[in-house]
Parts: sequence; C-alpha cells; structure tokens
Amino acid sequence: MSASVIDFIATEARFGAHNYEPIGVVLSRGEGVWVWDTEGNRYLDCLSAYSAVSQGHCHPKILAALVEQAHRLTLTSRAFHNDQLALFYEEIAALTGSHKVLPMNSGAEAVESAIKSVRKWGYEVKGVPDGQAEIIVCANNFHGRTLGIVSFSTDPETRTHFGPFAPGFRIIPFGDAVALEDAITPNTVAFLVEPIQGEAGLVIPPAGYFTKVRQLCTVNNVMLVLDEIQTGLGRTGKLLAEQHEGIEADVTLLGKALSGGFYPVSAVLSNNDVLGTLRPGQHGSTFGGNPLACAVARAAMRVLVEEGMIENAARQGARFLEGLKGIRANTIREVRGRGLMLAVELHPEAGGARRYCEALQGKGILAKDTHEYTIRIAPPLVITSDQVDWALERLATTLTQDFS
Ligand SMILES: *Cc1c(COP(=O)(O)O)cnc(C)c1O
Repeated sequence: MSASVIDFIATEARFGAHNYEPIGVVLSRGEGVWVWDTEGNRYLDCLSAYSAVSQGHCHPKILAALVEQAHRLTLTSRAFHNDQLALFYEEIAALTGSHKVLPMNSGAEAVESAIKSVRKWGYEVKGVPDGQAEIIVCANNFHGRTLGIVSFSTDPETRTHFGPFAPGFRIIPFGDAVALEDAITPNTVAFLVEPIQGEAGLVIPPAGYFTKVRQLCTVNNVMLVLDEIQTGLGRTGKLLAEQHEGIEADVTLLGKALSGGFYPVSAVLSNNDVLGTLRPGQHGSTFGGNPLACAVARAAMRVLVEEGMIENAARQGARFLEGLKGIRANTIREVRGRGLMLAVELHPEAGGARRYCEALQGKGILAKDTHEYTIRIAPPLVITSDQVDWALERLATTLTQDFS
C-alpha cells in the first residue's frame, strides 16, 4: 500500500468512532458495476453499498437529475409545497400500486415511521387500548440501528449497553407461520418482517410461508409490514420481493436503491388507512420529501424500469446462482439466492468468510462477509453476462484456494 492509502485508513481510525471494520481498500471513483481505489486498481462491486447502488455507480441519468435539481431548489421543508413531491408520490404509487406515501430519509427512519403509524392505526382504527399495542417481529431481524429498532433486535452486539429499550415487541422465529399464529393477540397491530433476511446471512423462508402469513394477518386484522429496504426495487429479480410470494403487504418500506445511492431517500407505502391516521404535527422530518431527494428518487425509479434492470437482475441472478452451484469446493456448505441477492455459506472449518473476501479483493472483487461464514454477493443490477462469468472465474479460484 502506498503512503496515501495508509494515511486515509489511519486518519479514519484516529478520528472516527470505530463502529465499522472495513476491508482495507480506499475507493475514490465508481462507474456502473466498477469501483476504483486511490491507486487506480479496479474492482467489481459485489456489495453495491448493501443494495443501495443497484442502478450502478454514478448512473448518468440520476446524476443529471441530481445536478439539474440542485441548481434549481434543494430544500423547502414541508412547511411549503415543492414542485417535485407530488410527482414523486404519483410515480412511486403507480410503480408499487400503493395508495399513500410517507417520504423519509434513511431506512431506519422509514421503519420507525411505520412502527409509529401502525401503533396509531391500532389505537384509532382497530381499537387497541392505549399503550397496549404489540408488534411481532422475527429473530435475527435487521431493520436498522435506532434505539427503537435495536429494542427488538436479537443480536447481542447491536443491543449490549444500549438499553433501556422500548417495550411492545414480541419476537418469533423467522419462517414459522405457526409461531406467528400463536403470538397474535387482540392487541397485535402489526407483523414486521423482511421477505428475505439480508443481514442475518440471506435467509430465504420456506415456500408458502408468506401465503400463510398473509392469511393470518388478514384474518386477525394485523397489518403486514414488509421491510423491502434491501429486497425491494428489483434486487431479487422482481420489483418487490413480495411478488415472488404472490402476496401484497399492507405497509411496504423502501430505501437504499430508491435513490440509486446518490442521497438518503426512504419511503413508507401503505395500501390502506395506516398512513391516513397521521395528522399535521404528529410526524415529520426536515429533509423528508425535499425536492432534491424527490428528483433523485424519480430518476432512480425511472432508470430501473426503462433500462430493464429488474429483468436483468432475474436473468443474471439465475446465471450467477447456477455458476456458483457449479463450483466444486469443499469449503462451500451452501449456495443460495434470489435474483442478484446471493450468498455463499462456507463450512466453519474453512476458517471464516473474511479471509476469502480479502483474497477476492486481491483478484478485483469486493464482497462482504456476513455472520462469519457467509460471503454475500449483490452486484449492481446492471451487471452483464460477461461480468458475471468474470466474477465466477475468480470466485472459483478463491473458494478452492488452500489457506493453510
Ligand atoms: C439497510 C436496512 C435498513 C436500514 O436502512 P438505513 O438506511 O441503514 O437506516 C432497514 N432494513 C433493512 C432490511 C435493511 O437492509
């Protein structure tokens, strides 16, 4: 490493809170599926900023929308109307088939906003006694990092010494519809769940799970809140992961790729009166729904559809999964995925995913280890067949590598 690279890393370590442990690469440029470090080395980005850069790095049309809007108007606050918000509402509602939209910034804020909204709905529409609302969530969930959200995390790392925590959550196993049925009480207002658990190491629920979940929620008048912040907007080869299950959520949460990685934009979408319970002054955000965010999100949604990225995610995801399954390495325990949300789970004896990710870095691929034994692979949705094959070749040599 040159002196300048070491300086960036050392300076971060010196001044920054050490709440991340990045792989030792300092990036300075990105285009499409590629990123470059400060030395000029090129890498295939197989993380896509946890699926926020699904449209590819620095997509020219999203960039143009950002620059054009930044010249005109960036922030008004919601104290005044702006000429982008209505268009954003109209376009995201049409794209997702939703009736109401609440614009926020980070994914965690969308989750918090959904929790507040379903509680309010529970008290004012369902008739739950005040202060008694219960929300059911799943073990090993990941919904963000705010205090409210870590209150119902089951990961000790994210909770230890951050309490006291918010009450009102019940935790059940993921993928178990009977557990949901048993956990529902007259005070249950919502079931908050990821269609595929991303941060837990890419856990795909059993077939038919969500059909049963949908039935149970409908029968018991419980709002089904799907956190599609990572799975949504084409990542799994469909616009929303719920489409694989043939169901519709009552509340859908989007974030990450909603801006194509340019800017934090998230949204709560609801198909019934959940968001309708909010009155002026009861919820808000200074930056939520600002014209710059709206212009960026509009362009990000437009290119996703116009450039066929969702279909490409399905096609290239199938190719990638097939290729990964073809790699004969005794380090591999399982390969799984849906669309371009893929994971290689290693045998514990292989010695951890981190060193494989570091070896991949040496071959021009940036991937992220997750939960010790899993390598997550989630390239931008604009990846081509040649690029998939290029990545597979390098993955094959790395996964068969002997580290001893
Ligand atoms: C990333 C993520 C979040 C949180 O989004 P932030 O923008 O980091 O706050 C919430 N839910 C899921 C499923 C995520 O993947």
